Amino acid sequence: MMMEPLTAEKPDTLSNRTSLDFHGYELLLLRKLQSDSALCMEWRDKLQKKIADEDYDLGDIPHSLWFLTVTLVRKKDRLLQFVQKQLEQAAKDYKARRICLGETLLTRYLHSHMFTELHLDGIYKYGDDNTLPPEIFRCPSITWLSLKYNYLDRIPPDIGQMANLEHLALTNNKLQNKSIPYTLIFCHNLRTLLLDNNLLDALPGFLLKMPSLETVHRHGNHNYFKSTFMWYHTDVNERILSIGHVSDFVMRQPETLQFWATQAVIGSKVNFYRDPAVAPVLREYITSIYTMFNVCVYCNTAKLLNQAGYKVITFKNPYLGNTCVPFQHWACSLSCAMGVEIPARYEQIKAARELDREYDAYVESCQKQYRVVYTSPDGKRLEHRPMIIPHQRRGCGFHQSCHCVLL
Ligand SMILES: [Zn+2]
Repeated sequence: MMMEPLTAEKPDTLSNRTSLDFHGYELLLLRKLQSDSALCMEWRDKLQKKIADEDYDLGDIPHSLWFLTVTLVRKKDRLLQFVQKQLEQAAKDYKARRICLGETLLTRYLHSHMFTELHLDGIYKYGDDNTLPPEIFRCPSITWLSLKYNYLDRIPPDIGQMANLEHLALTNNKLQNKSIPYTLIFCHNLRTLLLDNNLLDALPGFLLKMPSLETVHRHGNHNYFKSTFMWYHTDVNERILSIGHVSDFVMRQPETLQFWATQAVIGSKVNFYRDPAVAPVLREYITSIYTMFNVCVYCNTAKLLNQAGYKVITFKNPYLGNTCVPFQHWACSLSCAMGVEIPARYEQIKAARELDREYDAYVESCQKQYRVVYTSPDGKRLEHRPMIIPHQRRGCGFHQSCHCVLL
């Protein structure tokens, strides 16, 4: 378990209420309290006494509730105000005989503040149930989400609900290409995506359709995608890999109309969290089965994971400040796979030639400026300029824009 140093942050005081950051220790506290009603009642009563009398001694807090200790040190006012508000609301609801269905403690806590940042690094240790609570994705004001060091092997499709997200940190998890859902594309304001130290073979192809991205960190993924670069000098015959039908996958039969409607919505790539054409009641169902499908990068088709498809490798040269980065896509048919690979390869070759041209022009300009002036034995002043060798003629010969320079 990673804990931030207690001194790294100012305690929450009456004069420091502008903080809009929500932390992992608060999440662990709320999750624990909403899963244990007896514990929740016990601490509600103690905190109520603390609200009434500042000097009330809460007694020893067991080590297993370390997140309560940290919350009381760092966000005491916020916690006490929340408890008070909940008690008042409970009294109103009791009088009105009202029951709030589906509302969790975490939902109410998040909605009682307009949080802008969720700092949830290192909240799970190895072997924990590290399922991310769906409530955290339903905060419309969030711009910063950090989930580093959590052993995450998947990101839920709910991430697409965070329409204002600008910064997403997923560093040091166990994410593979299939772990990052296509719904991330609905985060139109995402500028920074940190994917360092995961298990990716290449970047997810749909990132290329996110023009808002300015920074994507990918270091530490299989040695900078080293093995994927073996496809760099290949073409359509090598970069499209057939993924066969998985026979042991048990499919429910027959599927409901709702299921087929959901498949069509997922394939269409519409933002079902925002599109008014999608009934709100259907959104939760779509989210619940979203990860059962692959989405074609080229056409509007979604197929169940067990159905055949194609993995496609392309290269973007350059990409956001990097010389060359591989991408991995999924396509529903060979023609869709070719529809992605062929234009991408032409673009890659064109970009590589442009880089070669710029390099040659730079070398040529340098060499023109460079000259050796010396005096011959008979006293004459002479000037020597080195011979210019065009870069393209020194390639491996496989193709003109090749980077395998034979020196
Ligand atoms: Zn397709």
